[in-house]
Amino acid sequence: MSSEKLSMREGAPREGSLEAPTRHPIDWQSPDFYDAHKLEQELERVFDICHGCRRCVNLCNAFPTLFDLVDESPTLELDGVDKTHFIKVVDECYLCDMCYMSKCPYVPPHEWNVDFPHLMLRAKAVKFKKGETLFRDRFLTSTDAVAKMITTIPMVDAVVNHFNAQPPVRNVLEKTLGVHHDAVLPTYHHNTLRKRVAGQVKSLTPVPTEQTSGKVALFATCYGNYNSPHLGDDFFKVFQHNGIHIELVPQEQCCGMPKLELGDLEAVARARDANIPVLAEMIDAGYDIIAPVPSCVLMFKQELPLMFPQDAQVQKVKSRMFDPFEYLMLRHKAGLLKTEFAQPLGDVSYHVACHLRVQNIGLKTRDILQLVPGTQVQAIERCSGHDGTYAVKTEFYEAAIKIGRPVAKKVDDNANSRFASDCPMAATQVAHLAKRDVAAEHPMTLLRIAYGL
Ligand code: SF4
Ligand code: SF4
Repeated sequence: MSSEKLSMREGAPREGSLEAPTRHPIDWQSPDFYDAHKLEQELERVFDICHGCRRCVNLCNAFPTLFDLVDESPTLELDGVDKTHFIKVVDECYLCDMCYMSKCPYVPPHEWNVDFPHLMLRAKAVKFKKGETLFRDRFLTSTDAVAKMITTIPMVDAVVNHFNAQPPVRNVLEKTLGVHHDAVLPTYHHNTLRKRVAGQVKSLTPVPTEQTSGKVALFATCYGNYNSPHLGDDFFKVFQHNGIHIELVPQEQCCGMPKLELGDLEAVARARDANIPVLAEMIDAGYDIIAPVPSCVLMFKQELPLMFPQDAQVQKVKSRMFDPFEYLMLRHKAGLLKTEFAQPLGDVSYHVACHLRVQNIGLKTRDILQLVPGTQVQAIERCSGHDGTYAVKTEFYEAAIKIGRPVAKKVDDNANSRFASDCPMAATQVAHLAKRDVAAEHPMTLLRIAYGL
């Protein structure tokens, strides 16, 4: 029965909820979680509600896929859809969380209890457990291992970057691995972020505020460390300039977000085991934690705490993990951020990544950049279409382009001198789709430039 029919019944559940949304823990260690029959029943229940609602039709390709299945079924209702096709909807979801955070009126505590992203996560986990996940997807989500392989020996990074730019090589990659020949692939750097900043630690006396300790540990992230290592210089220079003691987390692995998106929850648990004790120890020593990629921050702020609700160390890390501009804004509110700048940034098109939006912290990056005189920031709050590994897979590439094109068009239309996104992957995707020649920059790079550092 569709939700429309349900809502017309006397005594039917009310539309929306008056109470603040809550999120249930992810029950991934219970046998029910992996019960294929129970999963199918839950997919049917939630898909039927979504069919009656359809608010999320323009968010991603998962909802149009679901609604097409219904609209092309003989009954024009969910009961006419072949259940073996449910997985097509699941495969289109890249767990951006936007449907839960920005659209859905039926999230808990509403009695319909709809958590679409975490239902997709459960379906991905069941698929992974059944061994139905492609080798390509396991390979692409092994970000740490692949990057280590490419960057450990000098020159291997240069060779890989060179071959990744050759059309014949890309055609072979597409045929053998299913990586689309036009997709943007990351470039690798032997001189990693961790190597670059190793000698830049300065001992600064921390000045604490009510909400910050004034002493941060940077979780470099896979992308920051191997693919965008200059970010280390930007972060160290800006934080030190503002009197904040900054050093690297002594050792780290991938945060686990790519494996979460794959449904490999045991791998996520291994990432937890590797990272959380180290981070918790840093927090005990007075450090706050930051990371340059919103998805990795979200992993520690939201997904790990929901997977391990009883784990005191995970909850401790959640409480001291900050988006970097959220951190700078807290320092600014305490009067501790320097606001003398050496140069204006001009007009900036600023893409707000989904995994930043769902942190519910407002547009702190925009607000900090706008402290720079002679700077106007135009925020673009739409999905870039990159979405982890979604945009590089042959079968999803066209859909990813369709999702990201409106952002690129906005960047083209704005014709601003600069373009930035907190997510370096989203930034390169938008720059790739834009017709104008735009350089993708991280906002921390822009802030360093504005300070003249
Ligand atoms: S989590 Fe994101 S990708 Fe998944 S269904 Fe919701 S909006 Fe679409
Ligand atoms: S996730 Fe919620 S808002 Fe989106 S289509 Fe389903 S019921 Fe509607």
